[in-house]
Amino acid sequence: MDISTLAAYVADEAKATELVEKKLWPNGPVCPFCGATDRISRLTGVRTKKTKKNPDGVERHGLWKCYHCRKQFTVRVGTIFEDSHIPLSKWLFAIYMMCSSKKGISANQLMRALNISYRSAWFMCHRVREAMSQQPLRGMLGSGGDQIVEIDETFIGGKAKNNLHKNRTNKAGKKIAVMTLVDREGDARTFVVPNTKKGTLQTIARPLIDGGANIVTDSHLGYSGIKKHFRSHHTVDHSKEFVRAIIFHTNFAESYHSLLKRGLIGTFHHVSEQHLPAYLREFEFRWNSRKVSDSDRTDSAIRGARGKRLMYRRPVAHAS
Ligand SMILES: [Zn+2]
Repeated sequence: MDISTLAAYVADEAKATELVEKKLWPNGPVCPFCGATDRISRLTGVRTKKTKKNPDGVERHGLWKCYHCRKQFTVRVGTIFEDSHIPLSKWLFAIYMMCSSKKGISANQLMRALNISYRSAWFMCHRVREAMSQQPLRGMLGSGGDQIVEIDETFIGGKAKNNLHKNRTNKAGKKIAVMTLVDREGDARTFVVPNTKKGTLQTIARPLIDGGANIVTDSHLGYSGIKKHFRSHHTVDHSKEFVRAIIFHTNFAESYHSLLKRGLIGTFHHVSEQHLPAYLREFEFRWNSRKVSDSDRTDSAIRGARGKRLMYRRPVAHAS
């Protein structure tokens, strides 16, 4: 879906609804209550209650009825769109923007672009992140023999000047440790870690990496002894930068972290510790689908909308 195709969907709620139905029900409608796939009919001409603003009510798009269990439903049931009054056309726009911009977009940008409240924009961003969150890994990182997996750690936040939550008591100045594993031929995984001690880093990293992989890390002591679990372990000593290793470097992991940080500072201004894992999933999603088109990435996020019904705490203050 390019921007001009998207524009057509954003302007037409019926069309947007049909697109989401096509993506989530590739073989036709499925009743979310009894699982039936037959004796289901589209209900047309159903309108919402008459209000002052809409004296004739508004047409309800995408309403279906199952004649097995006699219940009515829309494609939103059981997805990130459930319990939301925001038109699917606006959801499509939000998903596309979050999938196609390299560093992501903020709730503020979405609020302005869609002319919705900050609260709604914030809620949408979080739900789209849920749709982007990775399914359990298909395979281990570095599998396939003699692959290279880079591991690097970094710290997020901590600069008081970047902290817009001055009126909140959320530990301004606290840095959050993040560890990233990058399979050069495959996926990246990023975690918030409580500290960068050896026990912590290795307990998280080891089970995710194939034993036949070559590990590259910096010379941080947290990785000492990791060699015995893998084919090899190489360390990069940044204080001796002039000995640039050609193969055994951590450049991928470092670029990942720099993109993540630029995104967090430039787009999100400040991310609380509570929400950082969700942002990390969003960055992972874009990185792991970096070789596909914006359009395919958007499709995959739409398909990820199913089965994600977590509730989110609403924002208390006007914050990013
Ligand atoms: Zn049914």
